[in-house]
Amino acid sequence: MAKYKIVHHEDKCIGCGGCVSVCPQNWAMQGNKAKPKKTEITQEEYDCNLQAMEICPTEAIEIKKIED
Ligand code: SF4
Repeated sequence: MAKYKIVHHEDKCIGCGGCVSVCPQNWAMQGNKAKPKKTEITQEEYDCNLQAMEICPTEAIEIKKIED
């Protein structure tokens, strides 16, 4: 089962809340920035986080495959 690592570039985050709106399962606001609840996710959790990555206007979210 594939595993992925979430990398959140906090310096790029403008706190728009887009990631939280499409993937509240793994994203929450903390002050004026978003923060992932988990930084290692499974295949089931991937789609939601992919949506978060795609909606992010500043490319602050990266998803890296860490295991096949
Ligand atoms: S979508 Fe991107 S810029 Fe907006 S809160 Fe999430 S990580 Fe930050």
